[in-house]
Amino acid sequence: MVRDDAMRDGPITVAVVGSTGSIGTQTIDVVGDEPDRYRITALAAGRSVDALIEQALALRPDFVAIGDPDLGPTLRAALPADITVGAGPDALAECARMADVTVNGVVGFAGLPVTLAALESGKRLALANKESLIAAGPVVQQARRTPGAELVPVDSEHAAVHQCLRANDVPKRLARIQLTASGGPFRGRSRAELESVSIDDALAHPTWSMGPKITIDSSTLMNKGLEVIEANELFGRPAGEDGYDIGLDDIDVVVHPQSVVHSMATFTDGSTIAQLSMPDMRLPIAYALAYPDRGAVAYGGIDWATLGRLDFEAPDREAFPCLDLAYAAARIGGTAPAWLSAANEIAVEAFLQGRLRWVDIPDVNEAVLGMHDGGNGLTLEGVLDGDRAARAHAAAAVSKAAVAGKETL
Ligand code: MG
Repeated sequence: MVRDDAMRDGPITVAVVGSTGSIGTQTIDVVGDEPDRYRITALAAGRSVDALIEQALALRPDFVAIGDPDLGPTLRAALPADITVGAGPDALAECARMADVTVNGVVGFAGLPVTLAALESGKRLALANKESLIAAGPVVQQARRTPGAELVPVDSEHAAVHQCLRANDVPKRLARIQLTASGGPFRGRSRAELESVSIDDALAHPTWSMGPKITIDSSTLMNKGLEVIEANELFGRPAGEDGYDIGLDDIDVVVHPQSVVHSMATFTDGSTIAQLSMPDMRLPIAYALAYPDRGAVAYGGIDWATLGRLDFEAPDREAFPCLDLAYAAARIGGTAPAWLSAANEIAVEAFLQGRLRWVDIPDVNEAVLGMHDGGNGLTLEGVLDGDRAARAHAAAAVSKAAVAGKETL
C-alpha cells in the first residue's frame, strides 16, 4: 500500500530503533536535513544510554526506549517528564508501533521483534536489519500481508534493485538481479594469505563506513551471501503480487570495488538497469523515508568529471566460502538461513573479541549449517528455537576452532 503524502497534515512521523548506531545516527541526519517533512517521535537503542539521552534531549521525541532493562532508571532520570520512557526488549518493539515509518537499524537477530511489530501494526518498515528478514523469511512475509504494512529496504543493494524495478513496468520480464559487492578489504587475497589477518585489517573497509558486525561480514562476503537471501525474500517468487518470476538461481553477485553501482536488474531482452551514486547510506535511508516520493537533498551525487573507471569481476568463491554457504542455506530453506545467520553472529562476535581467527569464521558457519536439524521456519517459535540451537552449536564450534587455532600457532 502506498501512502499519499500530499494528503497528510503535518510531518511524516519516524521511529528510529537502533538510534545510536551507524544507521540510526544517519537517519537522524537525514531527518534533520528535511525538518519540515519529518519528525522523529520515537527513539530506541540497545545499551548506549548516554548517547540515547543526548539524542532524546536534542530531538524531544514522544517516546524513548532502551533495550537493556537495567538502564531504564538511568534513562528515566535523565529525561523530562513529558517524554515517555520504556525499557526492555518489548519496549523496542513498542517503538516500532508508534510512527508512520520505523527505521530498523538494530544489529542482528535482535531486530526481529522490531521488524514484526512495525509490519503487524500496518506501518512502513524501512529495513536496515537484514538478519530479521533472512532468519524469519516466511514469518516476516506473513506480517507483510497486514493491511497498510509496507517494507522498503534500506540495505543499499536492495534499495538499488527497488529503484531499478520501478524503472520497468513489465514485472514478468525481470530475468536476473545482480547484487554488487565491494569485495571488502581482502579482495584479491588467497585463502592462504588470509590465515593471519587481524581485527583491524578486517575492520578497514575500503568504501563504506559501517558498524563492526556488517564490516566483518563484508570482509568475509557473508554480508553479500545474506543479501542474496534478502533479495530472494524481497524480489523472488512467490512474492506474487508484484509479478516477478525470479528465484535464488537468478540472483548473481558481482564484485565492483568502487561501490558506485549499487546493484542492477536485467530483463528478458538483455537490457540491464543499474542505480548509481557514491557510497553514502543516507541516500537509501532517505529513499525509504520518502518513498514513493524521493528525498529533496542529494547524498552521494556523482561528479562524472572525476568518477574515473568502474570495474567488475567475479567473486573468489574459494577464498570467501561464506557466499556459497548462504546460497546453500537458502536452498535448504526452512530455518537453515536462521541457523547460518545465528552461527555467523556468534563467529563474528568471537572474532571481534580476539577468540577466533578470521579464517575460522566460515568454518564455524559451515559446521553449524551442517548440523541443521530441520525445524519449522513457518512459525516464530520455530525460528526462535532454531536461532537458539544454532547459537549453542556455534559457541561449541568456536571453542573447538579456538583450541585448534592455538595448536597451529
Ligand atoms: Mg548492503
